Amino acid sequence: MKCKNCNAELLDNTAFCPYCGTKSEYQQEQKVEVINETKKEEVETEASCWENFANISNTLGIVAISTFWIPILGLFAMLPGVPGIVFGALGKRSKKNGVSDIAQRGFTKSLVGTILSFVLFFVWYFIIIIAILNSAY
Ligand SMILES: [Zn+2]
Repeated sequence: MKCKNCNAELLDNTAFCPYCGTKSEYQQEQKVEVINETKKEEVETEASCWENFANISNTLGIVAISTFWIPILGLFAMLPGVPGIVFGALGKRSKKNGVSDIAQRGFTKSLVGTILSFVLFFVWYFIIIIAILNSAY
């Protein structure tokens, strides 16, 4: 390896040229490697973050869709449902294989559970009001 500044012959693993003090290419290459590895780690961390969101969304969606039908209390299916929608939307950003599919399923379940809990709440409410009115006369 030669110094790119003064052209002196350098040992392969020297960080600086002993003649002119210029940084050798060896050190620069190492730096690039470290940067690339850091980027890779960031991408992987980000991917697992979306993956967690997808799984959370799917779980919340299952809870929402299995509780929305409970009379009156079904409105509480919105509690897992609404964050389930948000986590599902975030999880869909994952580019990892299959993760965005899980997020999509979580998103759909959460959305359906939330809407149905809202609609059924008013249905139950309506039924109770009718019953009260009927008993009053
Ligand atoms: Zn040099």
